[in-house]
Amino acid sequence: MDYLGAFISFIKSMLKGIFNIILFLLLTALTQVGGVVLLLTEIIISGFPKNWKRTVYGTILFVVIYGIFSTYALPALAKNWGKERIMPTEFLQPRSFMTILTNRNYVTSEMLAEAISVSKKMNNLYYGTVTYYYDASFPLWPWFPTLPHLSHKTGKELDLGFYYSDADGASLNPPSWIGYGFFEEPEEGELNQAAECKKQGNLFYSFTKILAPFSKKKDRIFDLAKTAALLEMIDDHEMIKTVFVEPHIAERLGVSHEKIKFHGCHSVRHDDHFHIEVR
Ligand SMILES: [Zn+2]
Repeated sequence: MDYLGAFISFIKSMLKGIFNIILFLLLTALTQVGGVVLLLTEIIISGFPKNWKRTVYGTILFVVIYGIFSTYALPALAKNWGKERIMPTEFLQPRSFMTILTNRNYVTSEMLAEAISVSKKMNNLYYGTVTYYYDASFPLWPWFPTLPHLSHKTGKELDLGFYYSDADGASLNPPSWIGYGFFEEPEEGELNQAAECKKQGNLFYSFTKILAPFSKKKDRIFDLAKTAALLEMIDDHEMIKTVFVEPHIAERLGVSHEKIKFHGCHSVRHDDHFHIEVR
């Protein structure tokens, strides 16, 4: 019986260890610093008796440390790698609060200036237009990828949403709650890049669809004029060197210039956002 008890408690502590490792990795991949904050919390509460109170206090402590760290420490530390936090303006806003909550809103000052400038110009062209941004980079280091984006690392990369309007032309936010995963699918006669990539064996090309399984377009109309204006405008911005978008979107918008590039089948599809990069 003693052996059985010892075996059960061994299995229990092993499972708890595996759970903690998975949680650490998940929080690190999602937020960059969440795993370290978890570790810090575990160290602080390690002396408390193991009961439900410890779990509750531990959770509260995690939230407090994470909140303070994200609000005050990260913006200061990010300066070491030339990155700063995007503060939402009247015309430039995150599509999802998760972008802010997960520290995925850091860019270089050059990228910030470009994003603000583009959003102001869009509002000048179409009064009341809000430009929505999705993921940028994490605050620390220039080599830490903002998963699942392998190329969002240095702060020189930012994803911008397409424009949506109601029947009267008023600005609406994009359909997906997180920005990604609601695709403007190829229409008849347009190049179906997603099908091509799938044929070539790239099975993850459309995987972002799982992020927005219940997204509905409702009254939103994909605003071709506004979205084309943004894509056109990018060509005039000297600092912006590249924009990735699905070929059928550029074709539908009727815009072509040298900065518009195809990201390749190893990436994910870009008919739910623009990916822009500065020099
Ligand atoms: Zn991107």
